[in-house]
Amino acid sequence: MGDKMACKPTAERLLNQARQDTEALKAKGIHPHLAVVLVGENPASQVYVSNKVKTCGELGIASTFEKLPADTTTEALLALIQKLNGDDGVHGILVQLPLPEQIDESAIISAIDPDKDVDGFHPVNVGRLSLGEPGLFPCTPMGVIELLKDSIDVLKGKHAVVVGRSNIVGKPMAQLLLKEHCTVTIMHSRTQNPADVCGQADIIIAAVGVPGLVSGDWVKEGAVVVDVGINELTKEADVTRFCKEGSRKMKAFRKKGRILYGDVFYDEALEKAALVTPVPGGVGKLTIAHLMVNCVTAAKRKADV
Ligand code: NAD
Repeated sequence: MGDKMACKPTAERLLNQARQDTEALKAKGIHPHLAVVLVGENPASQVYVSNKVKTCGELGIASTFEKLPADTTTEALLALIQKLNGDDGVHGILVQLPLPEQIDESAIISAIDPDKDVDGFHPVNVGRLSLGEPGLFPCTPMGVIELLKDSIDVLKGKHAVVVGRSNIVGKPMAQLLLKEHCTVTIMHSRTQNPADVCGQADIIIAAVGVPGLVSGDWVKEGAVVVDVGINELTKEADVTRFCKEGSRKMKAFRKKGRILYGDVFYDEALEKAALVTPVPGGVGKLTIAHLMVNCVTAAKRKADV
């Protein structure tokens, strides 16, 4: 029986680092500044954006919040990006995704100055990551690497299996694990014999968006399991599949009619693994903490300090 893998200490370490770096920059007359852009009224996006702006405030990072209507055109958003690119006082630009359908998302991502691209999604930063050059890299996988460094004595030589191959989590996660000299396998929806493949992993990173996909028979004894997935369960049948009657999660479901659940079948994984991150209260904290680190990194590089 393993333990819950706490993400909070790593998140706090990253936030403290960002706070101290912000103070040091301010002492030199440089005030790190993040511009956050939200298009439309997506309720989840509104919560994410307000958390990001709030965290900036807590660390002394300046922030600007640009809210645009849901019917904004690609051209209008590009014009705002160009304005922010040209503003020397702005060090980081974050356009909250997903964007409304009429907007060309890849044109927007490619228009952001790569050195202000705090989400790390710009093709130039994707290339820099692949080449092992300095750049700004996606916050969730960067946060997960910091968590693994804090939790595992030696990453070098470990077999890491990344479940999911998205551009924002799976692929950059695999690149970052390679950089740490792990042996990396990427699993996806067409992978055959998933339990056999995943069952070889010393480290499993699940980023799929399928609740409870990584079941106990996918997990090797003593593995470390990081659950990136965030899924909302609203059907009783789904919740009873993963959560025991009387458990905290089941009580929460009975009260609210919904719970958040990860891509890992938590109770089963915990039977075999050494460590498993919880959902909620796990990787999400690392993502926002690393966004702050990226913002300060962008400001430091601009000032060449
Ligand atoms: P995505 O939909 O872009 O990608 C999912 C990936 O999973 C795809 O590459 C697909 O090939 C793969 N996949 C689908 N079914 C599979 C299967 N049966 N076996 C193996 N792989 C399969 O999703 P994403 O943006 O990478 O996000 C993944 C999850 O992580 C979502 O639940 C999302 O909400 C969550 N997420 C959390 C954070 C955080 O801060 N905690 C950040 C980003 C994403």
